[in-house]
Amino acid sequence: MSTTPLGTLAFYSEFDDFQTWKRALQAQLPHLQVVHSSAIERPEDIHYAMAWKPPQGFFSRMPNLRLIVNLGAGVDSLVAREDLPAGIPITRITDPQMSRMMAGYVLFAVLRHARDIPFFEQAQRLGEWAYRHPRSPDEITVAVLGLGQLGAKAAHEIQRQGYRTLGWSRSQAAIEGVECFAGLETLDSVLAQADIVVLMLPLTPQTRHLFDRQRLEKLRPGAAFVNVARGALVDQTALTDLLRSGQIGAATLDVFEREPLPAADPLWSMPNVLITPHLASVAIPSSSARQIAENIERVGRGEAPNHVIDPARGY
Ligand code: NDP
Repeated sequence: MSTTPLGTLAFYSEFDDFQTWKRALQAQLPHLQVVHSSAIERPEDIHYAMAWKPPQGFFSRMPNLRLIVNLGAGVDSLVAREDLPAGIPITRITDPQMSRMMAGYVLFAVLRHARDIPFFEQAQRLGEWAYRHPRSPDEITVAVLGLGQLGAKAAHEIQRQGYRTLGWSRSQAAIEGVECFAGLETLDSVLAQADIVVLMLPLTPQTRHLFDRQRLEKLRPGAAFVNVARGALVDQTALTDLLRSGQIGAATLDVFEREPLPAADPLWSMPNVLITPHLASVAIPSSSARQIAENIERVGRGEAPNHVIDPARGY
């Protein structure tokens, strides 16, 4: 028996604030019990688990689980687990504010490369007035790889700036102002046309190390590389070599094969690399709580939740 008609939600995240999420969820569902996973007294009352990278064995404590809410958009770390309970729907967060935050980061990175800001930052450090004539936006091609909830919004924002924008996804997409391509057979040609490449793909068995040395060498000489998706999409050693040689001109990297990026990693000290610690976008309680609450109500009524991911597909 649950303690309330809605039951109890267990929360786990090392990155997100429990009290903020609890307040946001209870503002939507005042009768929902929300407990931190460290304070679960009656595991049999837990019907919903909302978690980001929970420890192994997390779910097996909860025999009456009905819904797993991934506290973010990327589900790669969740679906790769061997302790996922079978048959329990897994939802992701699909939040316009999260997409806007991501599009803002990507736009910043694209504009920074398109306006040669890394070149001027380096010149400033040397006290040099280094004039480099700006390129017109329509002379610059940006490729956005992955056109999902986050990628489509970013591609839309980039094309609004006047850049020629290419999009690439698994199935054919249609985004106004974006030339969309689909399927692995078109990837190398997309890469060969782009001055700036932005990775916005999920990490799946198909996309892991999709950007190996051979594929990274298909980028235009001096192209800029932006990864806001997952580090393991890329052979990081090859990327580092190509950045060192200048074959890839510059990079903005928010994600890495190993996080935190180890202190001794050569990427830290490369002048053509901007590093941020995996925060291009985050789940926002005030705007995401409504959809999570809706899903809890749906599951409570015996309906299928929205924004369900497919563990077999990996996203
Ligand atoms: P979605 O699941 O909504 O969309 C994924 C996109 O990638 C779709 O366009 C899909 O194609 C495409 N895709 C998937 N597999 C392939 C493939 N094998 N070949 C070609 N295209 C493929 O993802 P989101 O847009 O919500 O997020 C993308 C990723 O961003 C997340 O998975 C996560 O890893 C990362 N992320 C990073 C954050 C950060 O702070 N750095 C924050 C949030 C997310 P199709 O449309 O045909 O299915």
